[in-house]
Amino acid sequence: MDKIGITIIGAGVVGLAIAAELSRKYTDIVIVEKNDSFGQETSSRNSEVIHAGIYYPVDSLKSKLCIEGLNYLYEICEKASIPHRRIGKLIIATEDSELEHLEMLFEKARSNGLSELRLLDKKEIQKLEPNTNAIAGIYSPKTGIVDSHSLMGYFVNVAKSAGAEIVYNSEVDLLAKENPAFVVGLKEDQYHYQSRIVINSAGLYSDKISSLAGLDIVRLKYRLHLCKGDYFCYAKASPVSMLIYPLPPETCVGLGVHATLDMGSRLRFGPDHKYIDKIDYKVDPEKAGQFYDAAIKIIPNLERDAMVPDMSGIRPKIQGPGDSFRDFIIKDESDRGLNGLIDLIGIESPGLTACVAIAKMVMKMVEDIMQ
Ligand SMILES: Cc1cc2nc3c(=O)[nH]c(=O)nc-3n(C[C@H](O)[C@H](O)[C@H](O)COP(=O)(O)OP(=O)(O)OC[C@H]3O[C@@H](n4cnc5c(N)ncnc54)[C@H](O)[C@@H]3O)c2cc1C
Repeated sequence: MDKIGITIIGAGVVGLAIAAELSRKYTDIVIVEKNDSFGQETSSRNSEVIHAGIYYPVDSLKSKLCIEGLNYLYEICEKASIPHRRIGKLIIATEDSELEHLEMLFEKARSNGLSELRLLDKKEIQKLEPNTNAIAGIYSPKTGIVDSHSLMGYFVNVAKSAGAEIVYNSEVDLLAKENPAFVVGLKEDQYHYQSRIVINSAGLYSDKISSLAGLDIVRLKYRLHLCKGDYFCYAKASPVSMLIYPLPPETCVGLGVHATLDMGSRLRFGPDHKYIDKIDYKVDPEKAGQFYDAAIKIIPNLERDAMVPDMSGIRPKIQGPGDSFRDFIIKDESDRGLNGLIDLIGIESPGLTACVAIAKMVMKMVEDIMQ
């Protein structure tokens, strides 16, 4: 049986960032991906926002890795000329009844160390963005956007030029501990090999990979809930130049339908949220009215007929309907008898922003295992 040092399951932005990071120190790395190319799932179905870390509980991994990840990401984008823009973001209150929530969010974010945030009144916002409905808002100058495909392409190049291999059209369907390594099986060609370390970065399927390895995903609360988010684009010139968000809903499920811009300055609204039973990326055109209503709450004077169905993404959530906040799970499973398995479960937003910080965290775990 062939022997490999490190297997990374999943060529999304997180698996690829891990591959790029590990390839600086280790040579024997294989990335196994079930699709025929990288970034075909959640990593290319998101808002491409580099988040500043405003929303997450202090001391959570989401907060820490987002704040660290933003800086790493800007550094890489600048060094490697990956298309990105620090366009800034406004979270706005549109009614008096929202002002207390806005101030609380501001205080919480400041206590997370985000000293660059500013609380603005209506006049100040109008100078920055004259076409919103804001009566007050939080301005985040560090928030930006990135071309996620170019970012993933960069990680692929770094990893491959250091000797890592990416194997496409290969779905892992067996993961068995046979000390000191794992036996990894690929569905299509019945091929089995041994890997000393396995990093489970399988996005929407990461709970299933943990289960293959023998973990009880229900007892450990690893089971993922699929939460779909649709987008509609605005088929006219954008009346805003930065990202405009409403106040987030109390449920922590999503951030509320917001206005994002891509690198071509195309305005999009979304994502909304709906828990679903099976993966389905279709966007229902009948939702145009709902999206229009949410959009004009933050940006008035939009044209109803310009709301066009766009794409959707699916969040791999540990938090089920009605549950409270759940953090990322990034765990070396050695204490559960699975030395060499690193699980990454529930890597929803801000996973794109945090990808390099996650990769550095995984690097430390790998170094500990290899000692
Ligand atoms: C609607 C939406 C909007 C978002 N917006 C933002 C944002 O603006 N900013 C931000 O920071 N984050 C955002 N996110 C989160 C971000 O997109 C994700 O955190 C990130 O893309 C996760 O990357 P990943 O590599 O973990 O997963 P994925 O991109 O899902 O990659 C996992 C890979 O594993 C592969 N795989 C699965 N099972 C197997 C198997 N058995 N064998 C082989 N391969 C397998 C899959 O094919 C896939 O390619 C958003 C997410 C959603 C859904």
